[in-house]
Amino acid sequence: MKRFPLTRRNILIAAISAIVISSSAGVYFGRPATYRDVPFSDLLTAFERGEVAGIRASDDEVRASLKSGAELRTTAPAGYFAGNAELVASLARAGVRIEVDGSTGRMFTTMAALLGIGMLGLVGFTAWRTTTGRIPSVTGRSKVAGKADTPVTFDDVAGVDEAKDELREIVDFLKEPARFARLGGRVPRGVLLSGPPGTGKTLLARSIAGEAGVPFLFASGSEFVEMFAGVGAARIRRLFKDARKHGRCIIFIDEIDAVGRSRGSKSLSHEEREQTLNQLLVEMDGFEGHGGIIVIAATNRHDILDPALLRPGRFDRQVSVGNPDVRGREEILRVHARGVKMDEQVQLLRIARGTPGFSGADLANLVNEAALIAGRSGRDAITDADLEQARDKVMMGVERRSLQLTARERVVTAWHEAGHAVVAALLPHADRVHKVSIVPRGRAMGVTMQLPDTDRHTYTRDYLETQLAILMGGRAAEQLFLQVETSGASNDIERATEIATHMVCNFGMSPLGPLAFRKQDEGGGQKAGFSDDTARKVDDEILALVTRALETSRRMLEERRDAVKAVAERLLEIETLDAEEIGKLVN
Ligand code: ADP
Ligand code: ZN
Repeated sequence: MKRFPLTRRNILIAAISAIVISSSAGVYFGRPATYRDVPFSDLLTAFERGEVAGIRASDDEVRASLKSGAELRTTAPAGYFAGNAELVASLARAGVRIEVDGSTGRMFTTMAALLGIGMLGLVGFTAWRTTTGRIPSVTGRSKVAGKADTPVTFDDVAGVDEAKDELREIVDFLKEPARFARLGGRVPRGVLLSGPPGTGKTLLARSIAGEAGVPFLFASGSEFVEMFAGVGAARIRRLFKDARKHGRCIIFIDEIDAVGRSRGSKSLSHEEREQTLNQLLVEMDGFEGHGGIIVIAATNRHDILDPALLRPGRFDRQVSVGNPDVRGREEILRVHARGVKMDEQVQLLRIARGTPGFSGADLANLVNEAALIAGRSGRDAITDADLEQARDKVMMGVERRSLQLTARERVVTAWHEAGHAVVAALLPHADRVHKVSIVPRGRAMGVTMQLPDTDRHTYTRDYLETQLAILMGGRAAEQLFLQVETSGASNDIERATEIATHMVCNFGMSPLGPLAFRKQDEGGGQKAGFSDDTARKVDDEILALVTRALETSRRMLEERRDAVKAVAERLLEIETLDAEEIGKLVN
């Protein structure tokens, strides 16, 4: 149990501890499946004319969605965006949504982060230039973070003390491999960091390199797949060849699951992945006598990894990194508060209490947002109010005022969200409703945000059934009061299905009893242990849970039509309601 604390269940728990129920925007539904291929110059012209709403870049392929709804696809000159931070910054300023995949993503992330910090006037231009200047060409995959990058140490990683303790030995080894071996330490080879996204796995790996003073080679599992046969394996070879040149170093492979998925599972790039994985295993097995190289891999899907990866001599040290608890969150906030000016009144512990379920990355983002909010209002220190506003923003997503809802869509959204909010306000086991809003954010047309009073580590059946009813509250309101069913409920339905599936398959909360049911294609080297007949029963129970939840919420809303109406009308009037207002309207 203890060795594999990161199960799907923990991921679910992390995902629902601070709940935002959102209604997906209908516009995504109508997205055309085909893109128009155009020359690169057309894209630049579209930028210039301000016609572009968002771009999605993956290596050198760029897809742009125009405000008109059209979609373009083009090939950018290699490294074009990476070498052109100015352009990226001006696009971002103009409100163009920028999404990036794969290795290109790292470049953008670095730039975006640096640009953000730059705005706060904390990092000089030189630092920025040295870093962007280091961005490698698209062909040279592994990125070496050398001396020019600010070294990261264990002090920069907070709230993961146990992981740090386990990793200290790796630092000792990297510092002086020969001495370490002489003193009888068991020479480590591979470390697998597993945990949800944004918990600091990459940061931890970098800090090991920083502590030991060795180079850090970065690669992402997704770079090794989705390609022609043999390319992934060749890249692995090159990565290790690079590493051997350095002697002592860390190879970090993010998203190892992209390569190391259990071989039993079927998928398109199956063979390619197999070759890549084999090459990785060959390289790791060939380490004998090579002393100073440590491979650190990260994943958030520990459960689907090929067992071959976890054998002795490969990733035989497994360290799990979870979302931080209150104390951890306070420490992480403190780390990030170092870079900004906080008002003396600010109590980080209070903010930490109000952010259950937040990852380290969320908290970093929160501090960053708070600094921007403070800056915008002309204050030179961040206040409690700024932090709280930033918290809401991080939780609910960035407002997208450019998304013009029709009058009808607005009305439907208001009633839909009111449905969620009223069910949540009435059910005894529900987390407090913190905010309801019909301002479009990201892909959502509206959100209902709940905030638990304390961290939750386990869930009772009552709580989960309550959550299902709240999720169904939007659809129930659509049916009851507007006699429609919209695609806006798709995200609710997806999440309800996921929760109900866990209840039946993992938590033993159905008449099928306390058994674990695993789908055939889940992999993990385990065979599904049940018959088709059982599979049908599992499906039936999942359906029953969700259907019952929909009935519950319909019954409640029918009884409290007045409350739903009051909340919906007030939402149409002022767009966002807080806890107090919802309380007044419902009770
Ligand atoms: P992961 O690799 O687990 O997805 P990252 O290491 O990329 O997460 O985290 C992204 C950013 O979030 C970090 O660069 C850091 O700013 C912040 N962060 C995440 N976890 C922590 C932590 N435990 N302590 C301090 N900062 C953190
Ligand atoms: Zn909804």
